Amino acid sequence: MTLIAATNNPGKLVELKRMLEPEGFKILSMRQANVYAEIEETAPTYEGNAEIKAVIVSEVTDMPVIADDSGLEVDALDGAPGVFSARYAGNGASSTECIGKLLECLRDVPPEKRGAHFVCSVCCILPGGKMIRTCGRCDGWIAKAVSNGGGGFGYDPVFIESNSGIAFSDLSQEEKDKVSHRGMAVRELVKKLRETDQSN
Ligand code: IMP
Repeated sequence: MTLIAATNNPGKLVELKRMLEPEGFKILSMRQANVYAEIEETAPTYEGNAEIKAVIVSEVTDMPVIADDSGLEVDALDGAPGVFSARYAGNGASSTECIGKLLECLRDVPPEKRGAHFVCSVCCILPGGKMIRTCGRCDGWIAKAVSNGGGGFGYDPVFIESNSGIAFSDLSQEEKDKVSHRGMAVRELVKKLRETDQSN
């Protein structure tokens, strides 16, 4: 099955491809599928935003679409940046700027209060309109400073995954996928797509 990934985030696209292609799914970017839709994330929830992205793209194609909305929720900030993770430091802000703002907001927060988790909501729409939703979560905490592992994207250099005690940016790709919020949601989606396939 070929799926169009309804995202303009290159980091997410890389992860979706590397998780789904070994399972036999082909992933096309919106550009590869000649989809140039403007997507505004106006919903207050991850589920709502994932649905907005999937619906907008599936309206202009007759192929299956996968969309992911995700974010980082920090306990000491009452769940911020949450659905605003991509624009925490303003519209168009870089990951470095968002991380800078996050570390500044947490400057005086001690290690035991730096708990955080990532959340991912996936929405897949099949031709004919069937919608499949899955979600995932990954617990950890926010480091005092940026890790220089160099991998990953977004907040990976400051997110320490709880089981390994290692920053997402320092885990290998396989290690991150095994424990990440997106990995969990994508594995669940693969299961549901296979079940759907068998029931047809
Ligand atoms: P959105 O889903 O397009 O609203 O963007 C979610 C934002 O959350 C991304 O731009 C990143 O800043 C952050 N994010 C989501 N998942 C990850 C991840 O796996 N690693 C690092 N940052 C992430």
